[in-house]
Amino acid sequence: MKVDVIVIGAGQAGPPLAARLAEAGRRVLIAEAKDLGGTCVNNGCTPTKTMIASARAAHVARTAGRLGVRTGDVKVDLAAVVDRKDKIVGQWRESVQKRLDKAGERLTLIRGRARLVAAREIEVDGERHSADVVVLNVGCRAMIPPIPGLAETPHLDNASVMELREVPRKLVVLGGGYIGCEFAQMFRRFGSEVTIVESMDRLMSHEDPESSAALGGAFESEGIELALGAKAANVSGTANDLRVRLDSGREVTGSHLLVALGRRPNTDDLGCDAAGIARDPRGYIPVDDHYQTSADGVYAVGDVTPGPQFTHASWDDHRLLFDHLMGRPGRKRSERLIPITAFTDPQVARVGLTEEGAKMAGVAYEAATMPFGNIARAVELDETAGTMKVLIDPKTERILGASIVGAEAGELIHVFVGLVSAGASARALVDAECVHPTFAEGLQTLVMKLKRYALR
Ligand SMILES: Cc1cc2nc3c(=O)[nH]c(=O)nc-3n(C[C@H](O)[C@H](O)[C@H](O)COP(=O)(O)OP(=O)(O)OC[C@H]3O[C@@H](n4cnc5c(N)ncnc54)[C@H](O)[C@@H]3O)c2cc1C
Repeated sequence: MKVDVIVIGAGQAGPPLAARLAEAGRRVLIAEAKDLGGTCVNNGCTPTKTMIASARAAHVARTAGRLGVRTGDVKVDLAAVVDRKDKIVGQWRESVQKRLDKAGERLTLIRGRARLVAAREIEVDGERHSADVVVLNVGCRAMIPPIPGLAETPHLDNASVMELREVPRKLVVLGGGYIGCEFAQMFRRFGSEVTIVESMDRLMSHEDPESSAALGGAFESEGIELALGAKAANVSGTANDLRVRLDSGREVTGSHLLVALGRRPNTDDLGCDAAGIARDPRGYIPVDDHYQTSADGVYAVGDVTPGPQFTHASWDDHRLLFDHLMGRPGRKRSERLIPITAFTDPQVARVGLTEEGAKMAGVAYEAATMPFGNIARAVELDETAGTMKVLIDPKTERILGASIVGAEAGELIHVFVGLVSAGASARALVDAECVHPTFAEGLQTLVMKLKRYALR
């Protein structure tokens, strides 16, 4: 088939891009090897956040005594939790299918693994298709590093761990990044004993040390064991009897092992060489500000490109690339602001620079910090764990970065996202009238910790 645009991968950027291009009059083919919606819908955001909701319900019920409420023995029916998750995942998959259907007959969906045979020619199940433009939205999968013994030892990844129907007795999580942390707390709250093995000396090491410390403290108070600054030297054992030998010589044992040590792009069997598409040493596809790869007419979007790996980034990629392909002026990839949130409890959210990042970049800043527990609302709800930090540019008073560890940090960070996107001065928040008692009024208090805004 000859079309105008071929999209490989129906993840978070591919379907909206393909649908909008078809609605704009282009003939589009989109190929998907597995389930519509990609990682986010099937093995990422949707299922994790659905299961975290169940874990949180168990935690709230178990700890209701702190609010003077007595509950009985709390039990988690993991099979029911997983069934609920599967139902919600199914709904989102269907909604992706509906979006593609709505685009009309100019859009063709092909189910199958696509391989590039030339720059703008692909093969799916023996059939060849070509186009003027090819967009790669092939995403990533869990990376299983070559730790001695790991390949031969039963282990779970982000997809298979969410298929378990019985709560593991003891889960060992390799990796203390945001994926490892979300699963560790989820399973602890389901009732597992949990140990996190992390090679850095703190959890979520891309964040400021205060953020890592606040999260680490909350995890330890829930009984999650942290083996920090520890590398897994080798792995052995059989199901229910697993052993992770650390480089210190210590052995961590468990019934289940989850590998959350990073992601690997799905480019190994994509035919990049045949198409003349350059990859970096880790297999990611570098792109310019308009998503152009090294091959003419071939673009790449989402997790397969180097950079932050989030659904909102991938979805935003589709908007920028759509404008570019339609010849409209638009934002540039490198100018974007990508906020992040880890859906742990307390949540960890940030937009812009960390203090460490500002120092490394030699950026001048003024900073203020405040414990999350200073917020009245946090005390009333007994959600006091966490810390907050804001950095501003001393000259323009614009916000350079904000980090929030606390309840609903993922919602709260959007106050700063709006201000930073608008290029507003931090004074805008100082002068605003905030509702009492809310978590959000604490952001104003945080900014007013900067000397220049202090009440005198
Ligand atoms: C456990 C976990 C939790 C996460 N939680 C969050 C979160 O809370 N918030 C957030 O923003 N992000 C989260 N993410 C990240 C988010 O899921 C990804 O950033 C997002 O899915 C990337 O979208 P994408 O379109 O680039 O790739 P993907 O969603 O991975 O889609 C790629 C698609 O391409 C298909 N494909 C691959 N190769 C081929 C081929 N050769 N032919 C045809 N099809 C192919 C795949 O089957 C897949 O459907 C999470 C990720 C994980 C693993």
